Amino acid sequence: MIEVNELTKRYGRATAVDGLGFTARPGRVTGFLGPNGAGKSTTLRMLLGLDEPTSGTALVGGRRFRDHARGLRHVGALLEAGDVHGGRNGRDHLRVLARSNRIPAARVDAVLEEVGLAAAARRRIGGYSLGMRQRLGIAAALLGDPPVLLFDEPLNGLDPEGVLWVRGLFRRLAAEGRTVFVSSHLMSEMENTADHLVVIGRGRLIADQPLADFAARG
Ligand code: ADP
Ligand code: ADP
Repeated sequence: MIEVNELTKRYGRATAVDGLGFTARPGRVTGFLGPNGAGKSTTLRMLLGLDEPTSGTALVGGRRFRDHARGLRHVGALLEAGDVHGGRNGRDHLRVLARSNRIPAARVDAVLEEVGLAAAARRRIGGYSLGMRQRLGIAAALLGDPPVLLFDEPLNGLDPEGVLWVRGLFRRLAAEGRTVFVSSHLMSEMENTADHLVVIGRGRLIADQPLADFAARG
């Protein structure tokens, strides 16, 4: 469960997130939709404890997250592609994460297989395509078998087959009872992905309702 309440983030005089409130529940895929600059990444960073709210709360599993680097068993996250050491291979990258989170090493090969990177596991990340980096980021999110998963623009860089795969993965994670929270700036990406949409603009809540209710209104 993700609970955001009266959340505000200011950078100097600019307000990135402005009194935002919503809940993302277990067992469904919640889309987090808004144009570029709307405050999605800032909200995700506060949920992960990577940025401090100016005011309000951003809770995961009823708690304020402090150290995402060590919290992979509680929440998995795909942030922007490229936040990995290009010189390392994919398998070593995940092994380092597993060790610092007390996750069994056997999970590393399991998630590499699951995301379709087993064959590329011993190649340098620097040589990966954007889609492969997305898959590696998704593998890292899955590594700790967490109940809550956050994905920031996960379809970026994926080919059509990758898009279908990732949608199936989200459905399965939700069916397992996890909270799946997926940001995007494109309504079209959400249409076959999310059950429920939280829509924001300029840091404020615009809508929070089942996807089907948007379709009904045309
Ligand atoms: P989104 O993810 O929806 O594209 P962001 O959360 O990245 O939006 O950005 C929201 C607003 O906050 C933008 O106007 C952005 O320029 C600003 N912003 C984000 N991070 C910072 C920062 N570290 N310093 C200053 N302004 C920032
Ligand atoms: P330990 O490694 O001592 O078992 P945990 O694995 O429980 O500690 O927690 C690791 C990190 O995740 C800590 O920084 C903790 O604050 C954070 N954390 C633990 N549980 C939650 C939760 N439900 N929601 C948010 N953050 C959590």
